[in-house]
Amino acid sequence: MINAVDHIGIAVMDLEASMGLYKTIFAVAEFHREKVEEQGVDIASFSLNGVRIELTAPLHDSSPIATFIAKRGEGIHHIAFHTDAIGDDLQRLHSSNVRLINTEPQNGAHDMLIAFLHPKSTGGVLMELCSEK
Ligand code: ZN
Repeated sequence: MINAVDHIGIAVMDLEASMGLYKTIFAVAEFHREKVEEQGVDIASFSLNGVRIELTAPLHDSSPIATFIAKRGEGIHHIAFHTDAIGDDLQRLHSSNVRLINTEPQNGAHDMLIAFLHPKSTGGVLMELCSEK
């Protein structure tokens, strides 16, 4: 069951510059840093009362984040929702004709399983489901 907002993904080109900006706005004391090779992303995140803000930069030109920024520029990339049963939710959404980018859960940051829903099926919002392994 989908039960919370887990994080908001923000596409950025220059992670260091963005961390500086978010430090200024939110007085972030410390960022969690992580590269997720499988997704082609370099992440710096911090938590605001349980909701993570994930600054996400491309690791290389073929990263989905690089493609997104080339098309739409930097900005909000996706909203991630926490679920306690990602496999069941993907099946349920698939049977409800919601288009899935990932039909099977993938490895994401924070040692979580993730899967993206296609924005063509979600009113233009890129949604991610994530759950503990
Ligand atoms: Zn995410």
